[in-house]
Amino acid sequence: MVKATKESGERKSLPQPRAWEVPPLDKPIVKESSLGRKAWIQPLRQSSCATCLGCARKYMFTQRWCIFLRRPTLKKALSLGRMVHRLMELGRPGINIVRKEVDIEAAEFTSIVERDEDLMGEAALAATTIYNNYQQALAMVTLLWQKHPRPDTYETIERERRILINVDIIDGKPPVFISVKLDEILQVKETGDLFIRDFKTTSSNIAYTLTGYSYSLQCRMYRLGVAVHQNKSPVGFILDILRKPTIVMCDKDRDYTEYVHTFKRGYRRGQTETRKKFIDRPPIFENYLDRCRQWYKDSGDEGVQSFSVRFVEPVLPLELASALRRVSYYQVAAAIPGFFPRDITTQHCKSFNRVCDYYPLCQTGESAWDAIIEEQYEVRTPDVEGEYKTKTTGEEGTPNEPEKSQTATQPKDTNSPRPADGDTDTPTDKTSTPGPTGQPDVPQGSKGDTIPT
Ligand code: SF4
Repeated sequence: MVKATKESGERKSLPQPRAWEVPPLDKPIVKESSLGRKAWIQPLRQSSCATCLGCARKYMFTQRWCIFLRRPTLKKALSLGRMVHRLMELGRPGINIVRKEVDIEAAEFTSIVERDEDLMGEAALAATTIYNNYQQALAMVTLLWQKHPRPDTYETIERERRILINVDIIDGKPPVFISVKLDEILQVKETGDLFIRDFKTTSSNIAYTLTGYSYSLQCRMYRLGVAVHQNKSPVGFILDILRKPTIVMCDKDRDYTEYVHTFKRGYRRGQTETRKKFIDRPPIFENYLDRCRQWYKDSGDEGVQSFSVRFVEPVLPLELASALRRVSYYQVAAAIPGFFPRDITTQHCKSFNRVCDYYPLCQTGESAWDAIIEEQYEVRTPDVEGEYKTKTTGEEGTPNEPEKSQTATQPKDTNSPRPADGDTDTPTDKTSTPGPTGQPDVPQGSKGDTIPT
């Protein structure tokens, strides 16, 4: 049994960790944690798994305690990525619908400015940003549609689909509760083969963006989700990658006439060049599209690309099973900081050249946490989609209903091997064993009660 130390004078002792339990599929569970704080149990999403594998303590803060730094209350403008997804979801006939949604969002920001409530200038900036994002998203998607039209040998069987499943990862322990959100599932009409389609927007070079994708958590979790949900293993991915152009629609995109200018003085005296005379009308989207094409050409990258990637590994490789099992421990363990180790490499404490939001807590003794959290953080109630609502600290929200959920085991028709007995990544020993440093030992007797090391 792990002996936990306390720093707060009020916290006399830490309770024993609970046995494994399988959360329900329709909503996150909220429970009172041992430190008088609410703690949630949420499905494992690829982003939360990645957080946990990088730093378990950060996972506890974001996914279990659900605390986040207080931010300015102004709603952020619709992001470029969300607009690209919306346009891809609705297709060409839906362009006007997306435009109306953008207009409504922009009008909200404009009304803040008109009411003189935009003290920091954020609403004015958001009103401009949202249109820039929309035009960039529309340009990227239009170029993709032109360059890679959808072959009619495929049909879409699911679109923007959230899948919630309890997956039996066949290691003798309880199923793992996971959630994946898929852009599209396609089926080849003739063969019935399934493909997962994913849209990605990036500001970087496309080859750089794709580094490690085939063995990434996202790629593997999506595949596992579809395999369980459809009871059939997908054969590959279709990846549409759209690189964000750094140019925005502006006055340069107005219509123009051309004329020949003759230099009258200077070293070019007597020479001529063709110049543009812009017509005093609003910019035209087609002109902006032409400029984007040229921008992609000049930057030496295709800009929009569509790849087909065939899966060559089992649906549930041991690497993935091991990672899911490790994270599923933190998903349900008692939300006590000592059980969630910090990232002692400190890599994630300063990734992307910025200090982690939770550093004020990690660098301070737990006895000071209540005051720090009260002053700097807020609790955001999660829903099953992984979206957080801003709430006053301690207030409990109502989770949204999911689209659909199911309990399932791994499909029978996959190539996934059953982990070998005695494999260290997927232990089958039913004896309670101490976990890694700072982790609890799990009570005996419950199904699958040892911790992967
Ligand atoms: S500051 Fe470092 S240790 Fe603390 S939560 Fe962030 S990444 Fe983890």
